[in-house]
Amino acid sequence: MRYRFLPFCLIFLMSWGVACTKKNVPSVTRPDFSADSAYAFVARQVQMGPRVPGTTAHDECAIYLIQTLERMGASVEQQRGMMTNYEGKDLPVRNIIAHFGSRDLNNRILLAAHYDTRPWSDEESEYERRFLPIDGANDGASGVGVLLEVARQLGIQQHDTAANIRGIDIIFFDCEDYGTPSFYTGQERQDTWCLGSQLWTDLLKYRRETYQFGILLDMVGAPDATFPKEYYSVQYAHNYVELIWKTAQQLGYSHLFVQQKEYPIVDDHYYINTLANIPCVDIIHYNRNTDTGFPFWWHTQQDNMQHIAVSTLQAVGEVVMKVIE
Ligand SMILES: [Zn+2]
Repeated sequence: MRYRFLPFCLIFLMSWGVACTKKNVPSVTRPDFSADSAYAFVARQVQMGPRVPGTTAHDECAIYLIQTLERMGASVEQQRGMMTNYEGKDLPVRNIIAHFGSRDLNNRILLAAHYDTRPWSDEESEYERRFLPIDGANDGASGVGVLLEVARQLGIQQHDTAANIRGIDIIFFDCEDYGTPSFYTGQERQDTWCLGSQLWTDLLKYRRETYQFGILLDMVGAPDATFPKEYYSVQYAHNYVELIWKTAQQLGYSHLFVQQKEYPIVDDHYYINTLANIPCVDIIHYNRNTDTGFPFWWHTQQDNMQHIAVSTLQAVGEVVMKVIE
C-alpha cells in the first residue's frame, strides 16, 4: 500500500489528532484466539522465503494457504486472472477465497489480508539493497497469520455448532504490493497497487454474494504497533470503524487502537470500498515519527520476524473475533 495526498495529511494531523486517555478496562468476554498459533502461521510463511509473484515461494505459499484452510473446514475457491503491472506487462494474479459458516449469500462478512510480498526493498537507504525482495513478516504475513488463526477458530465453531455461524469469507489477496517501485523511471501508471483486490471486485459483479462489511489487516504484528483510524475507512465505513475501535477499547487494547484519524492509504480496502461498495476498514500500522508515515522497517530488509510480537497478534485477533461473533 502507499499513502496518498501527503500534503493533506498535515492538515488532518493538526486538526484531527486527538489522544485517547481512557483507561483500559476489559469489560467483555474474551473470544478464543491463540496468538502462539497465529505467530506460527506468520513464521511458516516467512520460512518459505519472499512470496514474490512468479516465484516458487509464492506458489508454495498459495498451496499451503489453500490446504490449511481446507483442513480447517473451509470450502476454498481460487480466483485466477491477469492484471497489468506498473510496466504495462501482464501479471498473473491468484486470489484465495475461503467460505465459512452459513451458505447464505446475503450479508456475509469479509476478512482479508494480502499474502504476496513486495519484490523490492525500495525504502532501503542504500541503493543496491533496494532491489532485494523482503521477508514481509509484517507486510503481508502478519495479517494472513492472524486470519489463519481466525479461520482455525471458525473451523472449530463450525464443527461444534453444525454450521450455525454466520457466513464469513476470508480472502487472501495476491499482488497487493506490486505497485510501482520508487526507483522506477518509466511512465507512471495509475492503480498499480492492490491488483488482487481490483481483480476480485471485477469477479464480484458476476456473483450473488453481498457483504455487510469487511475488515482488512495489514502490518498487524509489530511490538510497538499503533492503529489509528485510516482516512478511507472512516470515509466509507465509519460505523464499522467505531464498532472495531470500541470493541478494542472494551478488550483493553485502546493503547493499540488509538483514537486518532490519519491520512488516506491505498490498500485493498480502498478498491473494496470504491469498486465493490462494501464498507471495509483497514487495520494498519502507522508511525508518524518516520518520513514515510509507516514503521521504519516498512519496505526494507528489516521487515522480518524480529518485529513480530505475540501480544500484538493477540490483540488484533481478539478484536476481529469479537467483532464477527
Ligand atoms: Zn507493502
